[in-house]
Amino acid sequence: MPATTDAKHCYCGNDKPFAQCCEPFLTFKDKPRSVRQLVRARYCAYALGAGHHREFLLRTWHPGTVREVSVADLTNDTLLWQGLEILRAEQRDDRGVAEFKAFYRQDENGPLLVHHERAMFHRIKGLWLYVEGQVREGTQAE
Ligand SMILES: [Zn+2]
Repeated sequence: MPATTDAKHCYCGNDKPFAQCCEPFLTFKDKPRSVRQLVRARYCAYALGAGHHREFLLRTWHPGTVREVSVADLTNDTLLWQGLEILRAEQRDDRGVAEFKAFYRQDENGPLLVHHERAMFHRIKGLWLYVEGQVREGTQAE
């Protein structure tokens, strides 16, 4: 079951409908212009099913690190994503950094867990790409 949304809020938590927020990125109608937009869109891809949005995730991954990503990683989308909190998103020229928390459960009755990541981004030919991140995984949310 994907994360919930309503008419006013995107899955990423933004105060805009999905159709005017992350959907155009996931369907390649538009491309994220900022690190913050890319973090939101990639979160949505995971929340809606990494297997289903594998193409988007792979295309927004830096070619230098994407080869470490296995198809199995992206198909193993059984986690229930519950929300995104962007703590920090900064960019300068073609380099960006974002720190965010993505909340999830392993099953409906499981505790709320946090994927806390500090991620690096590069912009190549006008396209923001995820390079890599330092992750603190699986700690319980307060
Ligand atoms: Zn969004």
